[in-house]
Amino acid sequence: MRTISHWIDGKGWDAPAERTADVFDPSSGAVVARVALAGLAEIDAAVAGAKRAFAEWREVSLSRRARALFAFREGLERRKLDLARAISAEHGKVCSDALGEVARGQEVVEFACGIPHLLKGGYSESVSSETDVHSIRQPLGVVAGITPFNFPAMVPMWMFPVAIACGNTFVCKPSERDPSASLLMAELWAEAGLPDGVFTVLQGDKEAVDGLLTHPDVRAVSFVGSTPIARYVYETAAANGKRVQALGGAKNHMVVLPDADLEAAADAAVSAGFGSAGERCMAISVVVAVGRIGDELVDAIAARTRSVRVGPSLDDASEMGPLVTAIHRDRVRGYVDAGVAEGADLVVDGRGLQVAGHEGGFFFGPCLFDCVAPSMSIYRDEIFGPVLCVVRVETYEEATRLLSDNPYANGVALFTRDGGVARRFEHEVDAGMVGINVPIPVPMAYYSFGGWKQSLFGDTHVHGPEGVHFYTRGKVVTSRWADPARRGPDLGFPTTH
Ligand code: NAD
Repeated sequence: MRTISHWIDGKGWDAPAERTADVFDPSSGAVVARVALAGLAEIDAAVAGAKRAFAEWREVSLSRRARALFAFREGLERRKLDLARAISAEHGKVCSDALGEVARGQEVVEFACGIPHLLKGGYSESVSSETDVHSIRQPLGVVAGITPFNFPAMVPMWMFPVAIACGNTFVCKPSERDPSASLLMAELWAEAGLPDGVFTVLQGDKEAVDGLLTHPDVRAVSFVGSTPIARYVYETAAANGKRVQALGGAKNHMVVLPDADLEAAADAAVSAGFGSAGERCMAISVVVAVGRIGDELVDAIAARTRSVRVGPSLDDASEMGPLVTAIHRDRVRGYVDAGVAEGADLVVDGRGLQVAGHEGGFFFGPCLFDCVAPSMSIYRDEIFGPVLCVVRVETYEEATRLLSDNPYANGVALFTRDGGVARRFEHEVDAGMVGINVPIPVPMAYYSFGGWKQSLFGDTHVHGPEGVHFYTRGKVVTSRWADPARRGPDLGFPTTH
């Protein structure tokens, strides 16, 4: 059985692992590999290698750093299908979806290629006599990224292109459920000529995470994952003196007003609800149907839900693949059972789905609930599966109250033909990312990505300008080149003159 290992000091780590975890092919249910789980020795080696590399990497010119990013971008373009297939094989999302994830990650690499421009500081001439001031932003050192299973390429690429471009060295701790994509990206970095140790992969579980969160040489931590772990990472990293941004879970609502384009709204609900089997932090899990549109909207969504083609992730005919593990599938089924028991109306029931020839796979058909109440567990909790809940309300105000009362605030969408209402919505809604007639409003790489409330712990969003800010610290230099004739001690408080 193949063991997927770490990438330390620019090469694969070949010492035998003391602990491993199974890696599955979710389409067949078979164990296809084992992933090494880092212990103290590997954590120390990874951080030490990254620390050594930082001393040189921070001195590399901006032009050379940008060139390394351009070369990585070209490698990514060349190998994108290999990367997408590696993701599909371990995650279970269909290959076209995995290609989309690679493309969105690549956009962050392209953003980071502009680092010479992004790191320009400010300059004020003659703030006082013969005195000038300029500001610079400098890298932090070794920074760590701890990432979730659902985007094994894109989420690390939200972080490392910007971190590395800013002059840091980066230790990536991917999810142990789909660890191969990170190693492929490490190989691409090596091919791009990145010096050894600037990009490191540390495979592992809680032990690796805790090792990074408490390691004195790790200066900053970016985390993306579920809310309870995000809170833990935020608190632990901060208690250990590190800069930290921790993005958590979501319960994204899509509000459909009576004047909305019904067909477009139904398409959007099904695409955003069941794409990647609902295992997206920006998936729509709640449709809020306002007023008279409810019946027709539920019918239109139900018809589309019934025709979603579920199948193996690497089969081009599949629109939706399996869930990531059997444990996760059983958890999702538990929620659907609870929804029925709590009195919601299960309009489309995907629980019995079987995929011929793939009976051992972790498949679960798309489910649509109508008449869901906010007190039900299917409404309250992040299910992270192909389960779409429709909540019916009478007015716009009731819909926005639901959003305000929800503890999560990642993405939110409004479907309407009324520009005035849309404008009011985007102004008053409590969420980090807002879509108007767009169900998954993922910001472009040159904006920053992140939620509010329980969907983000920390002050900065990822990538874009906030990413550059997160991975650098500011320094302000005040300099005077005085006329020798005016020299002499002056014990007064420095003021401008
Ligand atoms: P997860 O929280 O279980 O794991 C995320 C990372 O934390 C993994 O690397 C994992 O190894 C590590 N980890 C798990 N348990 C840990 C523990 N007890 N202590 C320390 N580290 C631990 O999340 P997941 O299941 O891999 O991913 C799905 C979750 O991620 C969903 O909640 C989803 O909404 C969220 N997510 C959020 C965003 C966002 O932008 N806000 C993006 C993608 C995913």
